[in-house]
Amino acid sequence: VIVDDERERRLRFDSGAVWLDLVATVGFARTPAPIERLRDLDRLREWLAAQNLLPAAELTEADLDLAKDLRQTLRGLAESTVEEKSPSGDVIAQLNEFLAADGPVSVRVTRSGELTVNRPATVAEALARIARQAVEHLTGPVAATLRKCADEDCSMVFTDPNGRRRWCAAETCGVRNRVRAHRERQRST
Ligand SMILES: [Zn+2]
Repeated sequence: VIVDDERERRLRFDSGAVWLDLVATVGFARTPAPIERLRDLDRLREWLAAQNLLPAAELTEADLDLAKDLRQTLRGLAESTVEEKSPSGDVIAQLNEFLAADGPVSVRVTRSGELTVNRPATVAEALARIARQAVEHLTGPVAATLRKCADEDCSMVFTDPNGRRRWCAAETCGVRNRVRAHRERQRST
């Protein structure tokens, strides 16, 4: 059952990691009717700004394509990790291409006393930072905490450090599956 409502079209920021939030910009990715949440440049701008990764340079359609390419690469890595399979050489080569655009990072203290990192100069640099986070997570203890949503169509990957998260979101996948289970019980009685 593919749910095509406004709630499913919203950007997701609840995967537990920036790189997994990027993967989650397409919903129901492995079904014949995926939901594209990164549908235009405004959405890309909104997503990057929310992650504190909006570059100074104007965004272009090529940037949007690049973001979707990284998303595809990271999805492959996330899924092979969850399924405990080795990622393909192609996926690793693509990841290394994104990492090559990484620029220097510097931090400063804001007026309110918080640490902040410099904004990336370009989308390619922003994506390289996201790729770097993915590498750090996949080569460290976070890798063992990755889970896939228990909804058979959703396939969102998230971090689950406490081992208690079954659904990507209780109010969408959780509710939908409870309703489905209830209907199936009614049908069988
Ligand atoms: Zn889900």
